[in-house]
Amino acid sequence: MALIVHKYGGTSMGSTERIRNVAKRVAKWARAGHQMVVVPSAMSGETNRLLALAKELAPSKADTAYNRELDMLASTGEQASSALLAIALQAEGQPSVSYAGWQVPIRTNNAYTKARIESIDDARVRADLDAGRVVIITGFQGKDDEDNITTLGRGGSDTSAVAVAAALKAHECLIYTDVDGVYTTDPRVVPEARRLQTVSFEEMMEMASLGSKVLQIRSVEFAGKYKVPLRVLSSFTAWDIDINEEAKSGTLITFEEDEKMEQAIVSGIAFNRDEAKISVVGVPDKPGIAYQILGAVADANIEVDMIIQNISKDGKTDFSFTVHRNDYARTTDLLKEKVLPALGASDVQGDTKICKVSIVGIGMRSHVGVASKMFRSLSEEGINIQMISTSEIKTSVVIDEKYMELAVRALHKAFDLDQPSA
Ligand code: ADP
Ligand code: ASP
Ligand code: MG
Repeated sequence: MALIVHKYGGTSMGSTERIRNVAKRVAKWARAGHQMVVVPSAMSGETNRLLALAKELAPSKADTAYNRELDMLASTGEQASSALLAIALQAEGQPSVSYAGWQVPIRTNNAYTKARIESIDDARVRADLDAGRVVIITGFQGKDDEDNITTLGRGGSDTSAVAVAAALKAHECLIYTDVDGVYTTDPRVVPEARRLQTVSFEEMMEMASLGSKVLQIRSVEFAGKYKVPLRVLSSFTAWDIDINEEAKSGTLITFEEDEKMEQAIVSGIAFNRDEAKISVVGVPDKPGIAYQILGAVADANIEVDMIIQNISKDGKTDFSFTVHRNDYARTTDLLKEKVLPALGASDVQGDTKICKVSIVGIGMRSHVGVASKMFRSLSEEGINIQMISTSEIKTSVVIDEKYMELAVRALHKAFDLDQPSA
């Protein structure tokens, strides 16, 4: 008997029929003698529907009072799906109780719409488990010190599940989703993508942070910090498949590098369309310029990702960086109003139609020429690289958004990711 946490994503909870299937699967695990905690997402489309209603009434803005209400609103999606799952479990003859985040409670900071979990009280959950009940805990939400409801950012139910698993010292956290594991890249973009049997924690961190939305980055951080065994698997298999077979399916996130196995140089390709590029043109090339530009951006609480400064010509240079697309307008306004006049730069230019494509692999540590192979492959497709950044186990490029799928497919092939690994 073990304590197991299951998480079901929006598509897996997408209709009453699917919820019934989830209930049958969870009841099967409970009948096998496990103590079960389940963390559901809102039914697919529900979070978007709710947030769109808010936008109809007032456009989104960087305003605490408004964001508080967004969390109050969006958290209802998970409250509904959790109650429905508890009802479905009870209908299966399985005692079950659902709790909203604040009832557990799951405590977070007060950063509405992107709150971080600080602590989870396990007493209430343990009492129910000991009484033989399946405990359902809403994903995506918690409460701050003043009992305001908070949410954890889009895709945050993954993080709720892993944090709950860490707090309860669960044997394993199983993330059930609409694909049967972590693939070499998004299988919806590259049909030849292959499922990875295992993926190292470090690679999963990079892939999640570079745009593979199969796991929210913070869930991977939590799994690493508290060493939570984590597996991604499909909720679309028949609910009554053999439980031992199910427990071994999907992709396991591993924390120790397997010395015996030859590491693939590149394990996966991630991409995201969430960033925008901003260039400050005709900047004097002298000390303190990067600070003047990026200091102002940081003071406005805007995160910067990639940065590039060109060689100067006649004492002037161009300085480019990327920010999240949601911060694009705010950043350009800020630069035009405050920074440009002080700098004496000639213009601020922007491009929202870019994307970032990244190759990820711990094998890159011990191999040279990986980045150049990436650049060659892109040049063979006639794709212009606008920015580059590298770290020990990844190389990212910024390219025109319209070439994203072409680039991902070309790189997938160039690094033999469509071939079964040796
Ligand atoms: P859920 O609603 O279950 O949380 P998400 O839509 O958040 O599901 O995440 C699953 C989706 O992630 C898949 O449908 C797939 O399109 C996408 N995805 C992106 N990159 C990958 C990858 N490397 N492996 C698997 N899925 C990926
Ligand atoms: N329902 C939330 C979202 O759509 C959280 C989640 O699904 O993980 O982002
Ligand atoms: Mg998700």
